[in-house]
Amino acid sequence: MSFSFEVTKTDPTGARRGVLNTPHGAVQTPFFMPVGTQATVKGLRNEALEEIGAGILLANTYHLYLRPGHELIRKLGGLHQFMAWPHAILTDSGGFQVFSLSELRKVTDEGVRFRSHLDGSEHLLTPEKAAEIQLALGPDIAMVLDECIETPAPRDKAEAALKRTTEWAGRARRYFLEQASRNGGLGQWQFGIVQGATFGDLRRESARQLLEIDFPGYAVGGLAVGEPHAVTCEMTGEVTALLPHGRPRYLMGVGRPEQIADYVALGIDMMDCVLPTRAARHACLYTSEGRVLIKNARYAQDQKPPDPNCACSVCRRYTRAYLRHLFAAGELSAAILATHHNVHFYLDLMRQIREAIEFGNLANFSSEMHARYAIGPAGNVGPE
Ligand SMILES: [Zn+2]
Repeated sequence: MSFSFEVTKTDPTGARRGVLNTPHGAVQTPFFMPVGTQATVKGLRNEALEEIGAGILLANTYHLYLRPGHELIRKLGGLHQFMAWPHAILTDSGGFQVFSLSELRKVTDEGVRFRSHLDGSEHLLTPEKAAEIQLALGPDIAMVLDECIETPAPRDKAEAALKRTTEWAGRARRYFLEQASRNGGLGQWQFGIVQGATFGDLRRESARQLLEIDFPGYAVGGLAVGEPHAVTCEMTGEVTALLPHGRPRYLMGVGRPEQIADYVALGIDMMDCVLPTRAARHACLYTSEGRVLIKNARYAQDQKPPDPNCACSVCRRYTRAYLRHLFAAGELSAAILATHHNVHFYLDLMRQIREAIEFGNLANFSSEMHARYAIGPAGNVGPE
């Protein structure tokens, strides 16, 4: 099977229902990608991810480039074979981690020079290098290198980053297409990333410039980094209004359960976030009744499942009291069970959203989610 994307149904909100075909299987859209930073979703075996129904994962180029190294992974047959995941994979460009994790040396037009957060070794990540690393890793979808800046950003900084992001996107695309023509195709889709901080006109300008370069899919980057949800939505809407109907749209790094349907309503097809896995490790469960902070003493004798409305194998078998005990005792299985439930919750949320789009009913679904997560059973607030 090769790459294609088809929108099969739209909802009055503007939400789209479709399918993304990859050489490693078809994925129903809109979808959420569990994050597998180090070529593993922390706490979950691939068997569990398959049981939950994950058809695509995200892995981090920055981490895999530094350890174990992209050349080693290439030698061992690529990321799918290395991590024994026969389904779809998307890798980011590494840019976001370089800007957030490493000791930053210098950003120039050439690329980003940085020191590894692991051993202090010096590296230069260029648009071409980020594409080359991802060709070695061999995910189904690769992202171009973009310049990530802090938000809120002054306008002149946002303009400069936008200009550089477009130049880098052009270089990444040229490099990628040269490799493809040399090797007779690459079995990979490369997506561009729209930047522009929180300026609507810059977001539109960035989108127009990337459309000229021409990518099979487009991402919206640099959002959900501390700005209000309404601003995230406004900026996303500016971009999706300009993107071609027939190409997938990916909003990077989102979001909270009650926000997901809002992004889908703006025409987003793909999302990823560490929230369900990270929150699980901090004993925060996402449930049909809101957030449950399972360490709370109120659950010490609670014989109910973590989420009474959840069909996951954790909720079918274990009680809140047992999960609370595992967290209190510092057992590994606490994080494993909580992660399993949270990832199931997110993927089930996406199933419900796809169903709501089929029935043209996403607006109602979205307001119900906001109501549930505004209060929650204990008025709990997650660690995010
Ligand atoms: Zn569950």
